[in-house]
Amino acid sequence: MSMRKTGPVLLLVGGGHAHLGVLADWIKHGSPRGRIILVTPHRHARYSGMIPGTVAGEYAIDEGTIDLAALAERAGVELVLDRCTAIDPSHCSVETEKGGRIEFDYCSIDIGSVAQARGVLGEDLRLLDVRPIASFISRLSEKCEGAGSEPNHIAVIGGGAGGVELAFAMRRRFEDRGTRVTLIAGSAGLLDGFSRRARTLARRALRRHDIAFIEQDARLEAGRLFAGTRLLEPVDLLIASLGGAAPTWPGRGGLAVSRGGLIVVDRHQRSVSHPHILAAGDIAMRQDKAVPRSGVHAVHSGPVLAANLRRLLGGDGALRSYRPRPASLYLVSTADGKAIASYGLFAAHGRWAGWLKRWIDTRWIASFAKLSGGV
Ligand SMILES: Cc1cc2nc3c(=O)[nH]c(=O)nc-3n(C[C@H](O)[C@H](O)[C@H](O)COP(=O)(O)OP(=O)(O)OC[C@H]3O[C@@H](n4cnc5c(N)ncnc54)[C@H](O)[C@@H]3O)c2cc1C
Repeated sequence: MSMRKTGPVLLLVGGGHAHLGVLADWIKHGSPRGRIILVTPHRHARYSGMIPGTVAGEYAIDEGTIDLAALAERAGVELVLDRCTAIDPSHCSVETEKGGRIEFDYCSIDIGSVAQARGVLGEDLRLLDVRPIASFISRLSEKCEGAGSEPNHIAVIGGGAGGVELAFAMRRRFEDRGTRVTLIAGSAGLLDGFSRRARTLARRALRRHDIAFIEQDARLEAGRLFAGTRLLEPVDLLIASLGGAAPTWPGRGGLAVSRGGLIVVDRHQRSVSHPHILAAGDIAMRQDKAVPRSGVHAVHSGPVLAANLRRLLGGDGALRSYRPRPASLYLVSTADGKAIASYGLFAAHGRWAGWLKRWIDTRWIASFAKLSGGV
């Protein structure tokens, strides 16, 4: 497949949280002029915030998904179910996994991050990386069913919000069987970057749910799992939530990237080396300030990205800047109807926070179902 330009072409690469916001904005306010193409491997996007709830059985399997194909259609955007594998930012073209080549005038990249557990820990048949997020739920079911019997001992590796939530979710999922869950949080400790109070509340909740946690780095040695010097075997399932690595193809093409491969952008989300290319979400790194890589910031940068892409395609007004708030609200579910709410130095654990998390997440998903014409 080769797509040649017939007029100004905007290429959206990836159906991540920021691009969902772009599509939503264009459905609500009208799409900008020009031909717009979205390249993404799957028709549906899975919302990471609801994955632990799905694992814990709080949501049905398809409850946390968004119909990208329907959104693209409503926004007047052509959908190409494929994956970009290379970019030539100077000659404005990308190559895709299925052998396609697409030329563009402007490009926006929101492709998230890729799995890194095998690179960090090594190969092990029991290892399940949470990334790619889109297929985690099905890979988890296959692993559990493929094993023939349910696991007696699960290790969750990664002490960030995702790992902590997954440890609680796995405990809940297998609570009737008495499956042991160990959280290996790494030497940075539990919920690194969160307030002391939030970390204390997480430790307390882990103890209450009988989840062992170890604040040392995990490693695999001759097929055996260690945390620091402690041998943790026997372990039936290793779930890794290590934070994602950057895909390498954007940097290989010559886009300015950080040492870790993230696309370096300015406050308008434009590449600092090729301003006709924009990036947002986990794949982007601001040059002028540190912005944590999280779904919250990917979502909040969406409307800014939408406005700037509209402006580049001939709209009026100045480019908008993404100004992250000094603190963001994080709600870490403990899979017992409660969540730990964390906002700057404030943290509390309670049923109200669990309710708030469910309300925010289900309302967000419902807003996309409505936009795509589903509800
Ligand atoms: C279990 C878990 C729970 C989490 N919970 C929260 C939470 O509650 N709050 C929070 O703020 N953050 C949370 N996070 C972090 C959050 O998931 C990420 O920060 C967020 O998904 C980043 O969004 P994104 O837009 O960068 O990319 P993603 O949402 O990862 O989307 C990237 C998209 O790009 C597509 N893609 C990838 N490569 C290509 C390619 N080469 N070509 C075309 N398309 C491509 C993918 O298929 C995908 O659709 C959680 C993470 C995990 C693992």
